[in-house]
Amino acid sequence: MLDDLAAAVPADRLVRDPDVLRSFAHDEAEWAPHGLPAAVVRPHDADEVQAVVRVCLRNRTPVVTRGAGTGLSGGANAVDGCVVLVTDKLVAIKEIDERERFAVVEPGVVNDDLRAACAERGLWYPPDPASSPWSTIGGNVATNAGGVCCVKYGVTRDYVLGLQVVTGTGELVRLGRRTAKGVAGYDLAGLMVGSEGTLGVITKVTVRLRPARAAERTVAGYFDTTVAAGEAAAAVAAAGVLPSALELVDRHCLAAVDAWKNMGLSADADVVLLGRTDAPGALGEHEAAVLLRCFENAGATWAAQSSDQAEADALFAARRLAYPALERLGPVLTEDVCVPTQQVPEMLARIDAAARRHDVVIANVAHIGDGNLHPLLVTPPGDDTARKAAQAAFEDIISDALDLGGTVTGEHGVGLLKQAGLTRELGPEVLEMHRAIKKALDPHGILNPGKVFHEGNPA
Ligand SMILES: Cc1cc2nc3c(=O)[nH]c(=O)nc-3n(C[C@H](O)[C@H](O)[C@H](O)COP(=O)(O)OP(=O)(O)OC[C@H]3O[C@@H](n4cnc5c(N)ncnc54)[C@H](O)[C@@H]3O)c2cc1C
Repeated sequence: MLDDLAAAVPADRLVRDPDVLRSFAHDEAEWAPHGLPAAVVRPHDADEVQAVVRVCLRNRTPVVTRGAGTGLSGGANAVDGCVVLVTDKLVAIKEIDERERFAVVEPGVVNDDLRAACAERGLWYPPDPASSPWSTIGGNVATNAGGVCCVKYGVTRDYVLGLQVVTGTGELVRLGRRTAKGVAGYDLAGLMVGSEGTLGVITKVTVRLRPARAAERTVAGYFDTTVAAGEAAAAVAAAGVLPSALELVDRHCLAAVDAWKNMGLSADADVVLLGRTDAPGALGEHEAAVLLRCFENAGATWAAQSSDQAEADALFAARRLAYPALERLGPVLTEDVCVPTQQVPEMLARIDAAARRHDVVIANVAHIGDGNLHPLLVTPPGDDTARKAAQAAFEDIISDALDLGGTVTGEHGVGLLKQAGLTRELGPEVLEMHRAIKKALDPHGILNPGKVFHEGNPA
């Protein structure tokens, strides 16, 4: 296989150095198992991607596609002897069409780079995962990433118009469209969104853009408990206001960010709720007033509309830094459950109960406006007992989310960590449909095998 690969792509695309191979063995999900790749390949264009997939097909070698490796479910983790196909050389923004409002990019383009290029033209690419400074558009599409503004503007799926993909049969195909509307054939581009590298390697992405939006107003509230903050979030949803962001950060995260960046946040609050509205003029004022009222009625110990943009931005920066700050304390097992907005307080209460029951530290950040909660289970390094307890709490939280009508993953994907939960959520008939689709597009099971669900034995 390695000789075949060396003949298929220029020599500088291929990496065999064991230290480098190890650095591409897993993503940010520290708890998920991983193997060691036989090679890392960094193709420079779609033809090279196709050549790599064809080599792997001939040799029945697994291909694990990797963007920035910021995934939180083990989706980009290597299996032993695989080829890790990294998209970090596929970084061209090919086109930004200002009149039709779309952009065509290669998959390795970093989310923030696309957003900055759009902003220069008065346009906006909304999906904004908290990992936007690092994560790639290809990774975002493959995980159907959500983010901070998604409560109002939707997730990555809502912005993908078309894709170019190399399938598991080695074909390079174009799916979807460039037009604002289009229903020709099955929505195969949609099928690729969120498929976590198991159905194709994405080599080009056409995304829908929006006009740049008005400046946002920020309302911040401090709460004594996550449940009270959850009640405020449920009240916002019930009031019929669609904030452009509604995020929760708890004291564990604030303290971890303070310990790292010394931002002085944790002294004031146990739980911070951050709401934003981008509605212009009087409507924006009204929405900010509704957010404030909901916060106060739910028992905020302090709440105000921020008049200081720098202060508001610092709070959102702390939200973005919460995960890497916690990671500094020890291995983090990340949940990603999503429940109906009116069930958010109950779900947060159950997360607290799981922490007490299993004696585990559970920090919370959340895209709480759309019910997407990220309980982060933190264990001291090398403490096996704590690890087992965290695993048990993780399973309980998944059960509770399903029990409340939710899903096991709102945005991070299934990868390796959520497979048991997925089996429970989907049931055998729907899992069988997944297997049939996988078999059709990747008959030899070479694309990211073992991720999302167990395929059975490929032919
Ligand atoms: C601090 C932090 C904050 C985060 N915040 C958010 C958030 O707010 N919202 C959110 O949704 N996620 C968030 N994440 C998770 C992660 O950033 C997203 O899942 C992101 O979309 C992954 O992009 P990536 O480029 O790092 O992909 P990777 O981690 O490299 O890969 C993710 C998956 O996509 C597949 N893949 C990657 N590129 C391709 C391609 N070209 N073709 C086919 N498959 C491909 C991989 O095989 C893997 O299954 C966060 C992560 C961190 C570390």
